[in-house]
Amino acid sequence: MQRLEVVTPQSKVFSEDVRFVVLPGSEGELGILPEHAPLVSALKIGLVRVHHEGKVLKIAVSGGFAEVRNSRTTVLANAAEREDQIDVERARAAKERAEQRLASSSPDIDVARAEAALKRALNRLKAAGQG
Ligand code: ATP
Repeated sequence: MQRLEVVTPQSKVFSEDVRFVVLPGSEGELGILPEHAPLVSALKIGLVRVHHEGKVLKIAVSGGFAEVRNSRTTVLANAAEREDQIDVERARAAKERAEQRLASSSPDIDVARAEAALKRALNRLKAAGQG
């Protein structure tokens, strides 16, 4: 077993011993087994997949960083939600807002910001099984 901690500035989202973790690394998915070599990686908006108690639990993260050391993985993200914590209606509304911004031709739109918001919303819907 290995320890997985997922923390945000607001809260501890997950803290348990698990068998296997897949992280959304900025350069691609990272599969972490116990005794994995030490590493630090940036994360992209994506799902942390946790193999835990015979199931695969999904945690949506909005990017951040991961550190792996001594059979302990720490994920630090601005926002992270376990699949059961996701407000699906809120994510749908965020998706629509972002899509409308991207579809409008207004020069005031911050395209990168709207694209990031859309990615977060789609990621949350995927975590909640609504993607
Ligand atoms: P919104 O526009 O709905 O606020 P957002 O992507 O801008 O979405 P973030 O800035 O990433 O939101 O997150 C702000 C806080 O709200 C974080 O604590 C995050 O975990 C939480 N949060 C955002 N969307 C959801 C959701 N659909 N379900 C549960 N928690 C959410």
